[in-house]
Amino acid sequence: MKFYSTRDNKTLYSLREAAFMGLAPDGGLFMPEHVPQIDMKQIFSLCGSSFADMAVYIMEKFFGDSLDRPQIEEAMQKALHFEIPLRKVGIADNGMPLYTLELFHGPTCAFKDVGAGCMGQILRALQHDRKERLTILTATSGDTGSAVARGFYQIDGTDVVVLFPKGKVSPLQECQMTTLGKNVHAVKVNGTFDDCQRLVKEIFNNKELRNRINVTSANSINLLRWLPQSLYYFYGYWQWAKAEHPEYKGEGNAPQVIFVVPSGNYGNISAGMLARKMGLPVKGFVAASNANDIIPQYLKSGVYSPRPSVQTIANAMDVGNPSNYERILNLYGNSYDAICADTDGFSCNDDQIRAGVLELYRKYGYISCPHSAAGYNAVKDYAERSSEREMIWLSTAHPAKFTEVIEPVIGCKVEIPQRLARLLTLKESYTEMEPDSKNLEKFLTSL
Ligand SMILES: *Cc1c(COP(=O)(O)O)cnc(C)c1O
Repeated sequence: MKFYSTRDNKTLYSLREAAFMGLAPDGGLFMPEHVPQIDMKQIFSLCGSSFADMAVYIMEKFFGDSLDRPQIEEAMQKALHFEIPLRKVGIADNGMPLYTLELFHGPTCAFKDVGAGCMGQILRALQHDRKERLTILTATSGDTGSAVARGFYQIDGTDVVVLFPKGKVSPLQECQMTTLGKNVHAVKVNGTFDDCQRLVKEIFNNKELRNRINVTSANSINLLRWLPQSLYYFYGYWQWAKAEHPEYKGEGNAPQVIFVVPSGNYGNISAGMLARKMGLPVKGFVAASNANDIIPQYLKSGVYSPRPSVQTIANAMDVGNPSNYERILNLYGNSYDAICADTDGFSCNDDQIRAGVLELYRKYGYISCPHSAAGYNAVKDYAERSSEREMIWLSTAHPAKFTEVIEPVIGCKVEIPQRLARLLTLKESYTEMEPDSKNLEKFLTSL
């Protein structure tokens, strides 16, 4: 399987090229040359064994001519060793069962663990016969950095350098980056997130330096982070069908479900659209956004108008120009009508997000993170407008990562999972740096 850019479907790239470049030379995002078809009967039999086994079956269709099966098996087993349960939260007032797919049981308690973990493991396999070390350089405003650091932690032949702005990430987020050690190097920048991003950009634009060191990014648009996110849509569907339509075993008339996805950069939802193209019986999608409602507005008007992001309490979705919009267009043959036929939009402000958090807690005793609560709000709204009853919203982060938002709303403490609480007791190590790319250059060459 080869890959092409969303901006040019003539030039084909190998998996290795696409993985190491991240972004195509023309600025587009990489897409698979064709979309393999999945046999739902196989999915059902493999899901019964394990999520990782099912993942191998699908990933082999994309990566099978670049990697051996044992390499793919090892990558999936190492990256996907945690639970992804479909939880029945309760029954809504209209009788609709409320289902959420909890994607936050990975090492850093966010759905990004799936993409970052798979990317780390697959890159390791691709890197296998290379001699020179690889440096993964990334800037973060909080969440992405920890998932990437964890995804590449202890991967031979790699160094991870994570830049974050001093004093602008939560203590827990900071510990997630600074307590790993080994091949993970945390850099605390005396500046803003924009300074961090600028430094990273300047390094990538420094041709002379890039001839000397092998450096790549691991941001969310990388194909290796994006593709594996399609996997949990299959797994979530299987759990839902078992519960709601036990007569369906992967053959015959497939029941269809709607996925409701809290969205920011639209990597998650577009991976679901890819899963649908592979043959997953999905009726449609609802993009749930916060006040940064660029895509819901686009779905209404047909006009895509990016704008500067505004800060919200669901801050991992504060994106004003979602990169994966290009992938969505590509998956739907650049047809606005085709996108609208499958996709609905929803947005809510901070007060509505808090109301969603509170309602989930009061009515069902369920504690949700702010991003996931936007998903719940979207489910209720869409059920009212469409009379659809079969939906799953994705829960993208553990509520314990957002205690400062959640606790005042629900009026009680959120229990912190052990794997997070433990970090606060470990020794931190990091390098402090003034926001000048000369400093970063020196640091990178000294690794
Ligand atoms: C990154 C993130 C999102 C947004 O996902 P996209 O793929 O960028 O749309 C939503 N919720 C949480 C908790 C996140 O970390």
